[in-house]
Amino acid sequence: MRDVRDVLIIGAGPSGLAAASRLAARGRDTLVLEEHDVIGRPVHCTGVLGHDAFAELDLPRDTILSITRSATFRSGHGEPVLVESEHIIATVVDRGPFDARLAERAAAAGAEIRTGARVEAIDVTPSGVTVTMRDSAPLRGRALVLACGANYRFNRALGLGIPRTHVQSAQLEMPFPSIPHIDVRMGRRIAPGGFAWAVPFMRGEASYARLGVLCETDARGHFLTAFEAIAREYGAPLTPPSEPRLKMLPLGPVKKTVSDRVLAVGDAAGLVKPTTGGGIYYGMLSGHFAADALDACLASDRLDERDLRAYEAQWRERIGPDIRAGLAFRKLATRLGDRGIDALMELARVDGLVPLLKDKADFNWHRGAALALLRHPAFRRAVISSIWS
Ligand SMILES: Cc1cc2nc3c(=O)[nH]c(=O)nc-3n(C[C@H](O)[C@H](O)[C@H](O)COP(=O)(O)OP(=O)(O)OC[C@H]3O[C@@H](n4cnc5c(N)ncnc54)[C@H](O)[C@@H]3O)c2cc1C
Repeated sequence: MRDVRDVLIIGAGPSGLAAASRLAARGRDTLVLEEHDVIGRPVHCTGVLGHDAFAELDLPRDTILSITRSATFRSGHGEPVLVESEHIIATVVDRGPFDARLAERAAAAGAEIRTGARVEAIDVTPSGVTVTMRDSAPLRGRALVLACGANYRFNRALGLGIPRTHVQSAQLEMPFPSIPHIDVRMGRRIAPGGFAWAVPFMRGEASYARLGVLCETDARGHFLTAFEAIAREYGAPLTPPSEPRLKMLPLGPVKKTVSDRVLAVGDAAGLVKPTTGGGIYYGMLSGHFAADALDACLASDRLDERDLRAYEAQWRERIGPDIRAGLAFRKLATRLGDRGIDALMELARVDGLVPLLKDKADFNWHRGAALALLRHPAFRRAVISSIWS
């Protein structure tokens, strides 16, 4: 048994596993610690990500449940606006098997993955990192990747800070009547400061959907409201078959993503799309950036915070502009009341916003669409009059 591993990774989600695969492939002695007994369980996530990511990140295609090119958007009261596009392709994955495949690949690259291993404490000293678990001996590493998702106990202890913006979520997957498009709903009654969704897909011959809500408060209550509205429309029973899963979602980066010998990736770093909370893609990118920077720092044996800042510089350069644009867009959107959202929906129907979105929107990169909307004169007028009215 090796006494000191090169890298300890806390969390076997997409971000930690992306880092593990890359580090192990470069010959780094990598150990991933996952608190749950089964990788990928329990599932909280809707599993929607841009189809381009499959080629870019070589993602496991056998976990795809459906591929869709269309979504409807509506405010609480209004008619839906349909956005259909040949080049915006959303993919729905089965998150449990998706994470399990990523773990198989990390193991095939040489990483060790230990399940049922909940890290209780982290101690960083000038000579290394020690992690403590409840029922096994402490483990030592030269460096640590914090990939434990949206819980911030270790962030606080390590001085990394917590995301400035976060929201609540509730979601349930169930057999559901067939829905022609992804269905997104906004408005203060349904989802204050967020949105509700129904994402359809098939399991074998059976039609399913994931229904959920992202909002500022009372996720369970808003889930029930949204559920009833969506179920009524598609002829499903009006009460959910079981309780939704509740989870906090970060919507912006933590104060800093590195400290001596430590790098935070994915949700642990708050690296998600601020517009939707989608974090699989940015999380995996950040895992790769962290692995690249860490590999170089391990080679030179320089693992202080200032050395690891190469990681922070890389994610800021690559995904920072989209995160900033997303945060600005979100700030504006949350200041709109229901009347403002209605006005924008009306604008989308009559004033060419849909073609603009089709042209500028990219599933994984939201900056282009956000800037195009903010520059659109009628959009700006509607936003300003809604905020001042
Ligand atoms: C309702 C909902 C819907 C979502 N829908 C989408 C979507 O459609 N598309 C999208 O891209 N994103 C979506 N997201 C966000 C997405 O789920 C996350 O951004 C993504 O899972 C982040 O990956 P991660 O590896 O950083 O963290 P996680 O996937 O959360 O993985 C962290 C892992 O660390 C483990 N862990 C935690 N603490 C410890 C510990 N102390 N010791 C050992 N192990 C530990 C956890 O068990 C977990 O396995 C959604 C989130 C929610 C809540």
